[in-house]
Amino acid sequence: MTPLSRIIRTMIETDGPMGIDRFMTVALAHPQHGYYITRDPLGTAGDFTTAPEISQVFGELIGVWAVAQWQAMGEPQSFLLVELGPGRGTLMADLLRAAQVRPHFGKAAKLHLIETSPVLRAAQAARLGPGATWHFSLESLPAGPALVIANEFFDALPIRQFECRGGRWFERLVGLQGGGLKLGLAAQPVKLGLSGQDGAVMEVAPEREAVAEALGDRLKAQGGAALVIDYGHTVTAPGDTLQAVRAHGFAAVLERPGEADITSHVDFEQLGHAFRRGGAVVPPVMRQGDFLTAMGLAARVERLAGQLQGGDRENFLSAARRLAEEAAMGALFKVMTVHSPRTPAPYPFGVS
Ligand code: SAH
Repeated sequence: MTPLSRIIRTMIETDGPMGIDRFMTVALAHPQHGYYITRDPLGTAGDFTTAPEISQVFGELIGVWAVAQWQAMGEPQSFLLVELGPGRGTLMADLLRAAQVRPHFGKAAKLHLIETSPVLRAAQAARLGPGATWHFSLESLPAGPALVIANEFFDALPIRQFECRGGRWFERLVGLQGGGLKLGLAAQPVKLGLSGQDGAVMEVAPEREAVAEALGDRLKAQGGAALVIDYGHTVTAPGDTLQAVRAHGFAAVLERPGEADITSHVDFEQLGHAFRRGGAVVPPVMRQGDFLTAMGLAARVERLAGQLQGGDRENFLSAARRLAEEAAMGALFKVMTVHSPRTPAPYPFGVS
């Protein structure tokens, strides 16, 4: 039992079984024991790694994307450079370094970071130096055109799950088992108005969609574009994608709340609908491998590898390959752009 298992058990004893969304919120964001609140989860000593931590090329190519989009917007002299869930600040540091090819970009960019974790806010401040402003959500951002980056952010926002049994739908809830001592799954009948095969699981992500809709609305009203990268699927399909990860391996979702990362795959079809409801334009989603290739991955890797030798060179090349190869991150991870109707469609989306 973790401190959070005890807290969740008391909540269930008081209020009855809770939705998966509430369980995720408590496990990840409890003000005292929440997973993201208490630790830096990234890197070899942590629980999982992400593309910017694997290779500097990832953030650099996103820097190239951001500069190109800033130019397409007519090089505004002041704009918000926003990142949702910036982790250790690695992606932003690599982006800003690559963007130095256009010094005016760095002068025009006002850095705004949306982050709930005090531990990661400190890591971001150490990495990026003075000049950034932190927020808990989009609402407190100042007005103005924005370029927004979100890598592995939307997967961390809570979902609800529904399961079809004998032609009827049930919401999956977290309840108590083993004489009230253990957390276990429970089910509650719901009316979904959908047909489904026995055993099918459907996921919905109202909080994720609320953030996307608010961002779409802001981009429509004030101009700019966003780049969203995450693991997930392009078309809505049934499936249980809820997962817990601890020490670089999968863990049981209910086992040690507060000590494992809990996420789900992003349904990019529904995310796109939410951005459109807000008023943004959403071109077709790309696979991460195709996006990075179009942004010049091969040339960048070749240039940097030319400065390395032996084992360093091999490590660098294999890390860069991991980002784009189909069997690694290249196909599972998708890249979605959304933009204001007043802003030109970002390269390389819609180019075939
Ligand atoms: N983008 C980084 C980190 C990904 S991990 C990278 O690619 O390495 C998820 C990030 O989102 C962490 O920084 C985490 O603290 C943050 N986060 C999770 N839920 C959040 C929320 N509801 N609001 C703001 N930030 C959140």
